[in-house]
Amino acid sequence: MVSAKNYKIACIPADGIGPEVIDAGVTVLKALSAASKSFTLDFEHYDWSSETYKKTGKYIPDNGLEDLKKHDAILFGAVGAPDVPDHISLWGLRLAICQPFQQYANVRPTKILRGTESPLRKAQAGDLDWVIVRENSEGEYAGQGGRSHRGQPWEVATETSIFTRHAVTRLIKFAFEVAQKREKKHITVVTKSNAQRNGMVMWDEIAAEVAKDFPDVKCDKMLVDAMTCRMVLQPQSLDTIVATNLHADILSDLAAALAGSIGIAPTSNLDPTRQNPSMFEPIHGSAFDITGKGIANPVGTFWTAAEMLRWLGEETAADKLLDCVENVCGNGVMTKDLGGDANTKQVTDAVCEEIKRCY
Ligand code: ATP
Ligand code: MG
Repeated sequence: MVSAKNYKIACIPADGIGPEVIDAGVTVLKALSAASKSFTLDFEHYDWSSETYKKTGKYIPDNGLEDLKKHDAILFGAVGAPDVPDHISLWGLRLAICQPFQQYANVRPTKILRGTESPLRKAQAGDLDWVIVRENSEGEYAGQGGRSHRGQPWEVATETSIFTRHAVTRLIKFAFEVAQKREKKHITVVTKSNAQRNGMVMWDEIAAEVAKDFPDVKCDKMLVDAMTCRMVLQPQSLDTIVATNLHADILSDLAAALAGSIGIAPTSNLDPTRQNPSMFEPIHGSAFDITGKGIANPVGTFWTAAEMLRWLGEETAADKLLDCVENVCGNGVMTKDLGGDANTKQVTDAVCEEIKRCY
């Protein structure tokens, strides 16, 4: 008998509903590994959060990144607290992992799950099934710029976007590879090259160059503003979408809302070179308005767990997990944000039961 593979997973639940959804995700992953018998998982929890930051002035302890490096993947909850400015928490924890670990590709699948409803009239499962690939290492979020004459009426702040040929090429190439593996083999390159005539024009040029190496992938390009209309009016016409850090950030929130809820979709922060562990998280934030009520939708974390398994090479288990989640939604077991009346635990239990039934 081939022995089951073992994966070491670092869990960082962090803030708000993060601990609740990660707890649900770990429960489902344990059920899946028990049922599949093809892999085992060791979880190590790190209590890095805005609470730790408020006590110690740090989100990540000195040897923290070294510790994380020993793992095969990182499962991340959400960071952000009402009493810590967002740019401090984001740069303190999430980006403090993404950047040194070179997780330059941010992959965000969205689709209408069976049994769930889209706010788009008449759209149903199958009409919207996209993957957004987001540049995750530079661009508008490079952190470059500064402020002069602080507080004066003539104060000036600059926020410089950095686009390098190296980073744009590797990301677009990766996005084409994602598109190539999907059924429709179609990619839309999104920029704003009419108004931004340097970095965005270089994006268009690089996309055209990369496209030549993927003759089997259909490629079209869109300006980001027109893209928002196309996502709403012709969701069936899109498949893989590649865009800059800022543009893809905005488009993926729109995508999640069109699919029915911000509570369902996952994000993978990938280091495609596999020199560092990649990090997987639901796209939603810490959602303090529903924290502690036990009603957070865990589906985003289940789908996240599936994408983590896929990255680790456990394709079959990943597909099975997502299938079980869709069956449970199809049976009407959903949280309030999807129009149901189940709580986090009921959805989690239902998915665990469905996993047992499917294997
Ligand atoms: P952050 O500042 O970390 O982004 P946030 O409070 O802005 O967090 P978001 O995740 O952006 O929260 O979500 C916006 C709203 O969507 C939340 O206030 C919450 O009501 C709802 N929401 C988010 N995630 C979930 C979920 N998993 N289940 C149910 N509702 C959710
Ligand atoms: Mg938010």
